[in-house]
Amino acid sequence: MEYRQLGKTSLKLSRVGYGASPLGGVFRNISEEDGIKTVHRALELGINYIDVSPYYGATLAEKVLGKALRGVAREKYVLSTKAGRYGPDFADFDFSADRIKSSLEESCNRLGVDNVDILFLHDVEFASMQQIFDEALPCLNALKQDGIVKYIGVTGYPLKIFSDTVAAFDIDCVLSYCRYGLHDTSLQGILPTLKKAGVGVINASPTGMGLLTKRGAPSWHPASPSLQDASKQAVALCLEHGVDPTEISLQFAMDHEDISSTLVGTASPVNIEKNVAWAKKQMNSSLAHELRSLFADLTCTWPSGYPEN
Ligand code: NAD
Repeated sequence: MEYRQLGKTSLKLSRVGYGASPLGGVFRNISEEDGIKTVHRALELGINYIDVSPYYGATLAEKVLGKALRGVAREKYVLSTKAGRYGPDFADFDFSADRIKSSLEESCNRLGVDNVDILFLHDVEFASMQQIFDEALPCLNALKQDGIVKYIGVTGYPLKIFSDTVAAFDIDCVLSYCRYGLHDTSLQGILPTLKKAGVGVINASPTGMGLLTKRGAPSWHPASPSLQDASKQAVALCLEHGVDPTEISLQFAMDHEDISSTLVGTASPVNIEKNVAWAKKQMNSSLAHELRSLFADLTCTWPSGYPEN
């Protein structure tokens, strides 16, 4: 497994990271035993970065992950969790300083750890950016000064939130999702700005939250019908070539030198083994090129959060 420096931090992350949202049953109902085995297998295979949030499965993912991490030496993994997002509705977001502090304490209790390596504000496009700059990020900074978290950052879908945040505040890293993969590579546009600012980049959802998997996107997926159709065509094309769509999605997404780690989620020990093996394999570049062309004339993004963000 290759490890990459995350921006200016002291962290070196495995190129493939483990996204724990499936432990909260967000894609399908899972077996807790399989979920725990998946985490153990990920660590055995050299994955050292794990991402979670209280939002995933309404705290279930953190609970299952906490069970999996019981007894695992703390220095074996880099752990990020998040604060601010707790449910799907606008009313379920709370970026106040008091809630961030209580949320972190609750997350640490569920995860069975004293501290987290990275605390992210979860999907800041659902907040007023004024509150993010005036209250939420200063709160994260104070937690960092107190040593309760090592590094701080923001996550979200619209790319403007990252450039706006980096212009206004000193953060360590960002977590972007669904913006660098076969269906959409628009994250590239802001990578030079982030690099110049020394901000580390984590990319999540290489399959576009399930769009480019054999199972397909879950019912809650925000992609437009035309993007869903193109994704189905892409999956069919992969299968015609005897290539698993997740394999080539992961290989394509990982292949950018300015991205430290690519987070892929699964609650299956077999799938985590496949993902690590695929990450080491050469990508079929001509197929990747053909797949990219299926999305060339489409709008491959969707609205998320307040329009002004
Ligand atoms: P993903 O692109 O990793 O897709 C997950 C889907 O791929 C699941 O359906 C899973 O079963 C399937 N899959 C994984 N490995 C497979 C394999 N080998 N074969 C077949 N199918 C396979 O999307 P994701 O889980 O949404 O993203 C990864 C992680 O990134 C999340 O778990 C989370 O930690 C993080 N994330 C964060 C944010 C945010 O902060 N806003 C948003 C999205 C994702």
